[in-house]
Amino acid sequence: MADPIKVDSHVHLYPTAEDGLADKESYQIWEYGERADMCFSDLAGTLDDAKEAMAVAGVSKAVVVNLFMGRLLREAAIAELPEGTGGPDRETALADIDAHIVDRMKTFNRWGCQVAADQPQFVPFIAADITVLPADEGATHVRDMVENHGGRGVKLHGAVQGFSMSDERLWPIYRTCEELDVPVIGHSGPDRNGAGFAEPRAFGRMLKEFPRLNAVLAHMGGGTWAQALEIAETYPNAYFDCCEIIEWTGGTNAPSVEQLARLIKNIGPERVMMGSDFPWYDLDHTVERIMELPMLSVEEKEGILGANAVRILNL
Ligand SMILES: [Zn+2]
Repeated sequence: MADPIKVDSHVHLYPTAEDGLADKESYQIWEYGERADMCFSDLAGTLDDAKEAMAVAGVSKAVVVNLFMGRLLREAAIAELPEGTGGPDRETALADIDAHIVDRMKTFNRWGCQVAADQPQFVPFIAADITVLPADEGATHVRDMVENHGGRGVKLHGAVQGFSMSDERLWPIYRTCEELDVPVIGHSGPDRNGAGFAEPRAFGRMLKEFPRLNAVLAHMGGGTWAQALEIAETYPNAYFDCCEIIEWTGGTNAPSVEQLARLIKNIGPERVMMGSDFPWYDLDHTVERIMELPMLSVEEKEGILGANAVRILNL
């Protein structure tokens, strides 16, 4: 029998090894609690790293879901302002910082699209951030990136970006995605402040308001995975990727392997996609973890490996 198609529906790519390693260093994974024998990737997340990892795992397409953290960039830039910058000087400096961050986000998204234009095994998603380009401005940027630069969807990370997935400033972006028939993938999981911005329940209003939008809850709810089934049962346009959570099974705040398999079975395996969250985890290891899941048939697992992503993400 031919090998099933394998698609990694969740990877991060970096222009340089330094960028990738710095991001891996700074992004703390705390929500799954403690787990012995974690299997992290040693790779930095450059293009060459990704191509090599895809070849080793037999993955033919990788969906690039880079995220943009406007809020953190702004905080860092403000902290660098010379001491005592006040009054109109400060206003000007803050406006300059904001303009610079808008440029950075646009350049960042263009880079992802250019990579994919040159190497079609990569599928670029556009990082949106309503603290940088809110509402109509954000929607205009997304439309431009999809219509003119090959963008294939939108990525959000409410937990670190600092807004809810159902923040109405996102409505014009969601409406545009619905019109353009491109999906939205949102990180799902708890946040440090307990705001619940990216917990599965925070996707509820969005899923209800935009029933024709395919929305992916990345990590199946992560540390708040217990909310995922309710969302899946209420909203047929909710889909899931199982990256990260599949590497953390057995963690003190993560599902056991059996609980994860049961969750996938109950949601419907055809609504779940493989992701690696490369370069945090290795693609070939993620494939192994999926094939080892109990309860699911070989056909169901093979769908998770790739065919589901082709259908759900319109690849
Ligand atoms: Zn990710």
